[in-house]
Amino acid sequence: MQITRREAASAVTSALGLAQVRAQQGERTPAGRRRETHAVWASASDAGTTVESVRSFVAQLKRAHIHAVVMNAKETNGSLYWHSKRFPQAISPRHRDFDMVANLVREGHDQGIEVHLWLCDFPESQNSAAFREHPAWAQLSPEGKLTNTEPLFNRQYNSIWMCPAQRPGYTDQWLLPMIEELASSYAIDGIHHDYVRYCGDAAPDSYCFCDYCLKQIPRHALLHWETGPNERQRVEIVRPRLEANWEATPDMLPAGWEQYDRREKADLILNGRTLPGGPPDMRYFFYDYRVDQITRFVREAWDRVKRINPRIQLSAAVFKNPIQSGRYLGQKWSDWTSWIDVFMPMNYRSHFLGDFQTYLDHLTEITARQLEWTRHEKPLCAGIFTSDLYKEEGQSGGYPPEKLKRAIDAARAAKPDGIVLFSAGSLTRQNLWTTLESVFAD
Ligand SMILES: [Zn+2]
Repeated sequence: MQITRREAASAVTSALGLAQVRAQQGERTPAGRRRETHAVWASASDAGTTVESVRSFVAQLKRAHIHAVVMNAKETNGSLYWHSKRFPQAISPRHRDFDMVANLVREGHDQGIEVHLWLCDFPESQNSAAFREHPAWAQLSPEGKLTNTEPLFNRQYNSIWMCPAQRPGYTDQWLLPMIEELASSYAIDGIHHDYVRYCGDAAPDSYCFCDYCLKQIPRHALLHWETGPNERQRVEIVRPRLEANWEATPDMLPAGWEQYDRREKADLILNGRTLPGGPPDMRYFFYDYRVDQITRFVREAWDRVKRINPRIQLSAAVFKNPIQSGRYLGQKWSDWTSWIDVFMPMNYRSHFLGDFQTYLDHLTEITARQLEWTRHEKPLCAGIFTSDLYKEEGQSGGYPPEKLKRAIDAARAAKPDGIVLFSAGSLTRQNLWTTLESVFAD
């Protein structure tokens, strides 16, 4: 029997957790509205390091009508918040005597709340176990530098991003085994990707030019034949429009390529012309390569998790525009609907320009476009960063709960499947919980 893509998606979703099933099936509230999923991104510090602190955090989630908590389990500095048997050297010192994940799963499930574990996928840090043990797995710029040398706003970047492409490397030797360990060791409801991309927020066109990628970028696009005669096949101009002569796939690398150094190779990949006299279009293949590396990882994570437990959902925090983030970050998430169960775009105010009302207008528009980009094939929860809303209030306090309510309503106007809130920002945390107790009450 032939089933449609939508039916296939729905068959998979029927095995998922309660909140998503409700969203997918469009369960109605007594008021006749479709019930939306409520989720929060939470930091390990929110849950604390005692049984009592985890219990109290879960009770707060329950009072705020939260269906799913997305709890940080791997930090941007590489620290882990679970008792990893395969990577004990990466466990955060504060969590060596307390398995936060095991406690959160037990307490969350006692209260009917889904527990999803949030991994900051590709960043590590100078002192992290992965980088100390495997410095060659890190991404390199055309100058051979690490990402922690990059500036971002008025500070240094600090994160050392690992190369997603290298095999064997960080992806298949560190990250995927961690994901498998979580899926097989805990009764979790989901694995959540974050930082599932290149570091395009700081340096969109500078990574990765490690030795592996310098070989693989041209190979990925077959810019150079590996079989046949050694002399390079130059382009033959037989069609009137110059760019139409690409089709016979001549050798598009220049003579002497093998002798180029890292900077020269990177310059050619970014600024070269595939056809002599044509436009400087070589960088198309650089962007396509990066998109393929991230998509491959997303697919592999799905395959490995579903093999262990098909009920575990995969979700992802993604930048607001998948077409642009494909170009700048290698994150073309509109292509991931086969391997992501729930999308959580970070529609944070700091990712938009303008005043608060402009943000609200754009929040509705971008959420509607995100549902179009994913063709409604998988649930999508609009992500809002709560303390980010209070740009005008700054540090002065008086954070009106009304602004959070207006932002949630602006996202709701596009009819997403749910709302996910980034709860960080202790200044507004108390406002957040009390506001949610009323906003999410029905
Ligand atoms: Zn690389």
